[in-house]
Amino acid sequence: MPSQISTTLPSPDKLQEARAKVLVRIAAAEASRPAFEGIAAPALLAVSKTFPAESVLALARAGQRDFGENYVQEGLDKLLACRAFDPDLKLCWHFVGPLQSNKTRLVAEHFDWVHSIDRLKIAQRLNDQRPEGMPALQVCIQVNISGESTKSGVQPAEVAGLAQAISGLGRLKLRGLMAIPERLDHPAKQSEAFAALRACLETTNLGLSPEKQMDQLSMGMSADLELAVAQGASWLRVGTAIFGHRAG
Ligand SMILES: *Cc1c(COP(=O)(O)O)cnc(C)c1O
Repeated sequence: MPSQISTTLPSPDKLQEARAKVLVRIAAAEASRPAFEGIAAPALLAVSKTFPAESVLALARAGQRDFGENYVQEGLDKLLACRAFDPDLKLCWHFVGPLQSNKTRLVAEHFDWVHSIDRLKIAQRLNDQRPEGMPALQVCIQVNISGESTKSGVQPAEVAGLAQAISGLGRLKLRGLMAIPERLDHPAKQSEAFAALRACLETTNLGLSPEKQMDQLSMGMSADLELAVAQGASWLRVGTAIFGHRAG
């Protein structure tokens, strides 16, 4: 069945309603899971890629503060448009896409978070390029948790070494791990991938001093956010369930 691709923008009402539904899904999933010590409570990261600043601002009016982007130039244009529209509106911008070394400066100078660190060189560049007057850049290491050869992210065995190295960079604050697990039809198998990321975080934390320990698990998207929350997700990166299907 071909999916319905809408070329018209979602209305502010529709966006706010969709966000409210996602928040209910997250809260319900959180209520039926155990507490995970040392891991932050689940929160919604609205992935606004391909949707314009108007859509971001409509959600901001409903109280949404965290937005995710996966193309540097698109995200930069959008966050600057939002700032120009309302300089007092404090939004938090997360870069969640693949990051090339020639684009690190723009990210270091304008974003608050990077979820997709997959090598030390990128972390070092972000550290060197983070302006003095800004707070430390909050970062997560992207882990190839499903072991797919085509997906980006470091292998679980490499996480501890990379975390050690990043935790020594003064302009970055290592916050957690991120994964985009392979989509599986079987919920139990999907849950295993999320549980594996949590296990990786717990193991890695054993090698970090208490004040450097990570408290964030960036995992779960529109289709599987309940499973992710059940396994300890803190950032739910949700696009489609809020904005609708992306064109193209
Ligand atoms: C697009 C994107 C998402 C959102 O995916 P949906 O399935 O639309 O919710 C989450 N994470 C990353 C890294 C993305 O690029």
